Amino acid sequence: MKPTMMNFPLTLPAVLERAGNLFAQSEIVSRLPDKSLHRCRYQDFYRRSRALAAGLAKIGLRQGDRVGTLMWNHFAHLEAYFGIPCAGGVLHTLNLRLPPDDLAYIINHAQDRFLIVDDVLLPILQKVLDRIKPERIIVNALAGTPLPEEALSYEEVISQGGDLDAYPPIGEDDALGMCYTSGTTGRPKGVVYSHRSTVLHTFALGLPDAIGIGHSDSVLPVVPMFHVNAWAIPFLCAMVGAKQVLPGPHLDPHSLLELFQDEEVTLAAGVPTIWLGILEALQSDRSRWKLQPGMRMIVGGSAAPESMIRAFDQFDMEVVHAWGMTETSPLGTVSRIKRNLSQTADERRYQLRSKQGLPVPFVEARTIGEAGQCPCDGETMGELQVRGPWVASSYIGSDEAPQQWTEDGWFKTGDVATIDEHGYVKLTDRIKDLIKSGGEWISSVDLENCLMGHPGIKEAAVIAVPHPKWQERPLAVVVAASDNPPQEPELLDYVERRFAKWWRPEGVVFVDEIPKTSAGKFLKSKLRETFRNWPQV
Ligand code: AMP
Repeated sequence: MKPTMMNFPLTLPAVLERAGNLFAQSEIVSRLPDKSLHRCRYQDFYRRSRALAAGLAKIGLRQGDRVGTLMWNHFAHLEAYFGIPCAGGVLHTLNLRLPPDDLAYIINHAQDRFLIVDDVLLPILQKVLDRIKPERIIVNALAGTPLPEEALSYEEVISQGGDLDAYPPIGEDDALGMCYTSGTTGRPKGVVYSHRSTVLHTFALGLPDAIGIGHSDSVLPVVPMFHVNAWAIPFLCAMVGAKQVLPGPHLDPHSLLELFQDEEVTLAAGVPTIWLGILEALQSDRSRWKLQPGMRMIVGGSAAPESMIRAFDQFDMEVVHAWGMTETSPLGTVSRIKRNLSQTADERRYQLRSKQGLPVPFVEARTIGEAGQCPCDGETMGELQVRGPWVASSYIGSDEAPQQWTEDGWFKTGDVATIDEHGYVKLTDRIKDLIKSGGEWISSVDLENCLMGHPGIKEAAVIAVPHPKWQERPLAVVVAASDNPPQEPELLDYVERRFAKWWRPEGVVFVDEIPKTSAGKFLKSKLRETFRNWPQV
């Protein structure tokens, strides 16, 4: 039968146009480095994003060119989120917490032609400047730092851009943005999002049983805009015209609570570490803060502890637990109580809410164990595999990891999970050999290689141990090379000299032997079990 529907492309300019035309008065509030607030409206965001698109074209941006952003969450980053893809470019957000080696690697691997950088983040860029070759560095003077030689001013690019004549022809399968994941072993790997995948993902995100954002919401993404597009919240807010509150570099509980209160935030999103800090501040003085009744907090990136969900309920704040990955744009599952389960005992409802939840529409999930597909009994554990229109089908420019996809086209997440008879996914372990500390990855393999490079160490295995603030921290389990082993502080300093400070393990445990699999690999599941309660063993 001949289709009768228009073949209307799912591309970002339609979202920007809608935001500008229907929601001109919606607000965008940004916290600047000096803690002052910058306020503007969607009409400014619309005009400036289009001017950025035009300005980038004037300085030579061609369709498909990658533009890296090294920026905090604020209005200018939001403009880049729209201006770059609407100029036909590819928004490549750079994680400012990456070790310099990885940062240089991904800028080069992505072939970023232009970089847009907050002046306050220039010291991070400085560390890699001798290893990267962007054609232009555009500096956003947030703190009024004088422009470095050769750099272009962000404001200058906008004013030169003026009014955009027309968007370039953008196909819905064209690249919109890209993110590198460190959540795999080996070098970071690039995932490219298309206009179509981003728009579809944004629709799904907006459903009431997913994140559910409406025009009357005031939304604060604590999750950085360099973490999987701030979970695509800026795209959804623009689509519905919600107020956006962007916290800049100030992510401490006090600064966030102040914004929640003063900007009447109804929904915020971030990793558990952030929420645990906020909970502590509220517990010490709840009466100090006047928050919106029923405020929602989207918690993901690491598991939301049940105790935290319960504690926030006491304050009339609802934790909504979600799971996702860079490779899944990121939304995969959200834990919402089904109607037929809503009358069950509190105990059971909290158990459900602390699971990672139900797959959102068009994301399909299954668990695979040694005997094939696992039954949905809530007990049998297997590797979580997913597929869907916003799930990556490969990494860009990397032949390294095809084993992450099955022959029948599912993505292997590296997470171990159960699925229960109602369809709720619960993560139980991780196959990938990495540690997630406060939402950022630490490579256990890199730490092991470093430790085994110390002359006093014969073998080293690094595992994640639970941590009350950071969720997980690295613990080094080592075998000494001789009867005269190095001291713990010496080993830790040895590691710290080679990596970012926050990679330093919490401790070093000397053992006679590291348990191994039949293939001679470290049996990390056994070590994780043994040291589950470390420092008590
Ligand atoms: P990333 O690609 O850096 O966003 O990391 C994705 C990984 O973070 C997942 O594969 C999980 O290992 C972990 N993760 C994300 N959300 C959750 C969650 N709600 N609970 C437990 N782990 C999570």
